[in-house]
Amino acid sequence: MKNFKLKKTIGIIGGGQLGRMMAYEAYKMGFFVYVLDPDPDAPAMQICHKPIVASYDDEGAIFQMVKECDVITYEFENVNPELLLEFRKEIPIHPNPEILKISKNRNKEKELAHRYGISIPKIFPIRTVQNQKESIETLYHELRKTNIDWIIKTAEGGYDGKFQIFFPSQTITLSDFEQKLSEIFRAFKKDTIEIIIEERLNFSFEFSVISCGIKDQNGNYRIEFFHPFINYHKDGILRKTFLSLQKEVQFLEELQNKITQLMRDFDYIGLLTIEFFYKENEIFFNEMAPRPHNSGHLTIEAYDYSQFHQHVRAISKLPVHKPKPHSYAGMLNLVSFNRIDEQPYLVEEILKYPKTYFHYYGKKEAKQKRKMGHITVLQSEFHHVQTIIEELERKIYAHEFINQ
Ligand code: ADP
Ligand code: MG
Repeated sequence: MKNFKLKKTIGIIGGGQLGRMMAYEAYKMGFFVYVLDPDPDAPAMQICHKPIVASYDDEGAIFQMVKECDVITYEFENVNPELLLEFRKEIPIHPNPEILKISKNRNKEKELAHRYGISIPKIFPIRTVQNQKESIETLYHELRKTNIDWIIKTAEGGYDGKFQIFFPSQTITLSDFEQKLSEIFRAFKKDTIEIIIEERLNFSFEFSVISCGIKDQNGNYRIEFFHPFINYHKDGILRKTFLSLQKEVQFLEELQNKITQLMRDFDYIGLLTIEFFYKENEIFFNEMAPRPHNSGHLTIEAYDYSQFHQHVRAISKLPVHKPKPHSYAGMLNLVSFNRIDEQPYLVEEILKYPKTYFHYYGKKEAKQKRKMGHITVLQSEFHHVQTIIEELERKIYAHEFINQ
């Protein structure tokens, strides 16, 4: 293990907006930042000291980071855990890549949650589907028989609601189902795909818990939690998040104890995010991400220590404190948002609101469902946060509200 030094070099695998925000925090402390991504224009690549253009699994490129950095982290899950575990013998790599083996796969992460006593939605016991008429028809009829509404997700590779099929048992037609599956087969270029079929819960709300695993200089392990964030999705993609402090999640302490146990068992350093559903006084695990999370973006302005700041400190073995909010807050994602130069009036409109912060990730193209930036709103009254976020949402997504 290399000893602590002030001029630290941090390597981040993945150059998206999470990497970019992580890099900003590392910069503030005078650290030197490497980022590895195949796209030289990726958000974090544009602003780091040392961009390495290579695929995420390029052994030579990761080895360069191993030689030249003091610590390595990653900002997404599309990394080969075995490769990182191998390199971990030479350099600290956080979070523990063992968690990646599990969090990459929706079946495995749900099994893990269940083992730690966290409820999961009902799972239909079929885990693979073949690109073959008979196999698809059998699955269709089996599911229809249940009379339950299901969501079918690929076990791996999905994000922002991608590669998911909503299966309303009463109404879905076979041809509709076949067509949706064929799109997934085409994207995966495989004849057999691992899936998870889970009951579609009619939840009262969704929330996420972001926690930070910390080992202090004496080797004592502890966790600091952010307050649960209440999340609203649109078409499977996060639209807005609120830090309400009023809508308390019941059984939170019990939940935190289970998360603590899980993280402790993985000797987990850095951020872990878990998404949950809340329904009739019961908490259901949805998915986990071993990294900072979109629902934690409001911590940048609303907390004394942001999620990115906590992560950088934790993985660099620096003292970490309990993060505290100093305001009510809300976050609105800018999804498929056109480039700023095409809509300068909208940016001005946003910035007219007091205590409203505009983030833009510098992505070259505004593709459909791509997260381009976000807005954070702070207010001393929660209902003011809600009013402003909803007003902004109507202005920015005006096309969605035309017929209302
Ligand atoms: P992703 O990796 O794309 O974020 P998720 O499993 O979190 O995948 O699904 C995205 C969103 O779809 C969730 O945040 C939720 O709004 C909705 N969703 C997913 N699974 C379920 C479910 N079992 N019941 C109800 N809604 C769900
Ligand atoms: Mg999700």
